[in-house]
Amino acid sequence: KLHNTILELKGNIRVFCRVRPLLPDDNSSGDGKLLSYPTSTEALGRAVDILQNGQKHSFTFDRVFIPDASQEDVFVEISQLVQSALDGYKVCIFAYGQTGSGKTYTMMGKPGQPDQKGLIPRSLEQIFQTRQALKSQGWKYEMQVSMLEIYNETVRDLLSSNRDSSRMENGNATKQYAIKHDANGNTHVSDLTVVDVCSTKEVAFLLDRAAHSRSVGKTQMNEQSSRSHFVFTMRISGVNESTEQQVQGVLNLIDLAGSERLSKSGSTGDRLKETQAINKSLSSLSDVIFSLAKKEDHVPFRNSKLTYLLQPCLGGDSKTLMFVNISPEPTSVGESLCSLRFAARVN
Ligand code: ADP
Ligand code: MG
Repeated sequence: KLHNTILELKGNIRVFCRVRPLLPDDNSSGDGKLLSYPTSTEALGRAVDILQNGQKHSFTFDRVFIPDASQEDVFVEISQLVQSALDGYKVCIFAYGQTGSGKTYTMMGKPGQPDQKGLIPRSLEQIFQTRQALKSQGWKYEMQVSMLEIYNETVRDLLSSNRDSSRMENGNATKQYAIKHDANGNTHVSDLTVVDVCSTKEVAFLLDRAAHSRSVGKTQMNEQSSRSHFVFTMRISGVNESTEQQVQGVLNLIDLAGSERLSKSGSTGDRLKETQAINKSLSSLSDVIFSLAKKEDHVPFRNSKLTYLLQPCLGGDSKTLMFVNISPEPTSVGESLCSLRFAARVN
């Protein structure tokens, strides 16, 4: 609990760095000791050093997870944040990093490996368990989920029963997915499927449907899943039947598009357009978090779909956590350094 206490005192924006293990298929040529980090998961590790062309760059984050850190070790550090969504806070947890750095592993886990499930399934279990436990204190909770992806600055509904939800509907109307915020700080996305849920199992079913919907898009658009942002949103409304107290919380869990730079991903045609859209939204996200941290008057939420969608959940008394995922491959040093710099800016 000590870690959580320290984090609680630190304000609304936190940055965690997670270095994934070197995998059998990784390119391990070159110097394997380019990254250094704490040696034990027990220690409250906060520093990462990275060597590029013989030059050392040092970074400090709210927490650094070494390759040995398990999914459970990671979840212990965020469970308090998930809890605060039940207490009525708006929470965003992002995974940022180049493709292959472990974003989806951190968020969802490894398919078919229940012991390696990621923070989305763990958060859901905790939320539904807590809901059950709070019943005896008179609390009644209702949960709704939606899942969307943002690709090339366009929203796509991942829970729509219609296969390609961005296409023409009924021969004339095109779904717009217009984003609006109401006076109570709630976000409405027109035409977006929102589903009432009351168990982890139900949400797991919807997550499968969303994953399927993303993979359908993948054949049409080159590797779309790593080129789009995945946004999982759970709205939580609670009412206490004896005290009449009410809470409205939101939990957003976001697997961001790969942050790799242009040179690596090719630079012509659709690929160029994709990369520009990703760069735009990731730099907007960084600008927004940076100006929130600096308590600036003008926060540029409107510069991208992602930041506009999440606006009510990023400002005010909301809570934001950014994971910066790092690959230990020596060939990724350049990208890792960029990711660490991005994260250091918002920290
Ligand atoms: P990304 O979503 O950033 O593109 P992935 O989450 O798909 O990256 O991770 C790339 C590969 O590395 C996957 O095979 C994943 O299972 C594996 N991986 C990532 N992080 C870890 C980790 N902490 N422990 C074990 N395997 C991991
Ligand atoms: Mg991924």
